[in-house]
Amino acid sequence: MTDCVFCRIIARETPADVEYEDDAVLAFKDIYPKAPIHLLIVPKRHLSSIMAMERGDAEVLGRCLLAARAIGEAKGLAERGYRLRVNCGPEGGQVVYHVHVHFLGGGRSSGA
Ligand code: AMP
Ligand code: ZN
Repeated sequence: MTDCVFCRIIARETPADVEYEDDAVLAFKDIYPKAPIHLLIVPKRHLSSIMAMERGDAEVLGRCLLAARAIGEAKGLAERGYRLRVNCGPEGGQVVYHVHVHFLGGGRSSGA
């Protein structure tokens, strides 16, 4: 049992409202939504932070952005748009150390 909450969600050991999945990426609803649509897009392979990112992680992080595009289209936001946010480290507001892209949409400002 890992102590990473997002790895536990990926392993289906912790429940989450999964909205998108492919071979490399999972996306699920944020439990404390800050926009009408607030999802977290995570690579299935554990990577703690952008601050620990290496060249070999570029592909999977690009896959997270492609997942964001697919989610935006599925939710009818392809034209209206949405916000993507990655918090990095303590002063960047990162609380969970499994890298994640916040997908914020459905409101004019789409979250902070
Ligand atoms: P960050 O501050 O960028 O590390 O964001 C972590 C996000 O994860 C916060 O918006 C939390 O609300 C969210 N979060 C924490 N635990 C869970 C969980 N078990 N399921 C869904 N979202 C979570
Ligand atoms: Zn993890």
